[in-house]
Amino acid sequence: MQIWNPWHGCHKISPGCANCYVYRRDESIGKDASVVAKSGDFRLPLKKNRQRDYKLTAAGGIVFACMTSDFFLDTADAWRQECWDMIRQRDDLQFQIITKRIDRFMQCIPPDWGDGWEHVTICSTCENQNRTDYRLPILLELPIRHREVICEPMLEEIHMEQYLASGKIEHVICGGESGKNARLCDFRWIQEVRRACIRNGVPFTFKQTGAVFRKDGKVYHIDRKIQMHQAKKSGYSYIPGTGSAEAIRYQLPERAALFDRLSRSEFRSRFHLSAQDRAYIAEKGMDTIRRHAQDFVARRLSAENPEHDGKQTPMKGHPVFLAQHATGCCCRGCLEKWHHIPAGKALNPEEQNYIVDVLMDWLRRQSK
Ligand code: SF4
Ligand SMILES: [Zn+2]
Repeated sequence: MQIWNPWHGCHKISPGCANCYVYRRDESIGKDASVVAKSGDFRLPLKKNRQRDYKLTAAGGIVFACMTSDFFLDTADAWRQECWDMIRQRDDLQFQIITKRIDRFMQCIPPDWGDGWEHVTICSTCENQNRTDYRLPILLELPIRHREVICEPMLEEIHMEQYLASGKIEHVICGGESGKNARLCDFRWIQEVRRACIRNGVPFTFKQTGAVFRKDGKVYHIDRKIQMHQAKKSGYSYIPGTGSAEAIRYQLPERAALFDRLSRSEFRSRFHLSAQDRAYIAEKGMDTIRRHAQDFVARRLSAENPEHDGKQTPMKGHPVFLAQHATGCCCRGCLEKWHHIPAGKALNPEEQNYIVDVLMDWLRRQSK
């Protein structure tokens, strides 16, 4: 990896900036990081050494651009075109640009950008759900060849499944915050993003724990020197095609959060019980309906590879079928997507019970 910082200094614009390391480092040497200035390395991509070879080389790895500022910072508008010129010339290198200002992208690109340059990756930072829901729809729509997402410092649980499902995001990186005022990062948040990546076949890297890391409810203070090492040691990064379904660790989602997510799905929230369904439930009683649900789950969903998977649940004919569609319990793909239960393995009794509970919960809510 190589670093090119054409300018230095930045302005804080979002929650992830609160403990910005550029500010921290500058403060420690009595410098004001809000003053933005061109650096002596501005023309680094074109600089050569005594042997007249470029200092930045393809063999040196990815060139991370603008790591002590933001490439799309407005203060740098007058300097950026020259940077693009150098990037254009050095198409033998791979440039990576990490930004919190993806919304300024279109006004910052060079005239010949077209549908993106093959040797430039644009990486949007998403530290919380709010910034994820603001920045990722923009990132997905822009003319960019290579898109990545960085959740660092990760400040809360983030759901990004809908964006990953676009197939346009090539890599997601998660990590906690370091420094003395570091905010907490919870392992569950990392797991959530990782699962979403696995479900969508997107490579995932757990880069560092950060200084304050919570795992299984216990908070650990982790020394700077081993934050990356600890993350690596966890073996939690994921490359598609390498993890077996069994190896995927997962937690069944909490009921309230699940129903909340379901209510936001246009497709899932379309399902309702008809008067006829209600009459049927009243006639049979909840205990009988529960037995029907157990039976459907056991026969149609629980095998390692159920027959006609994806089509095994009719759209009508029994209230439990409706409940299955409404709650994402209709097939193994939906179970994996909505309930984190990996496909390609037989359901154990605990999982079957969990599914039946969810179905009955929905039916009860609908019968009210
Ligand atoms: S955008 Fe990045 S460099 Fe700029 S203040 Fe925020 S964290 Fe620091
Ligand atoms: Zn389904």
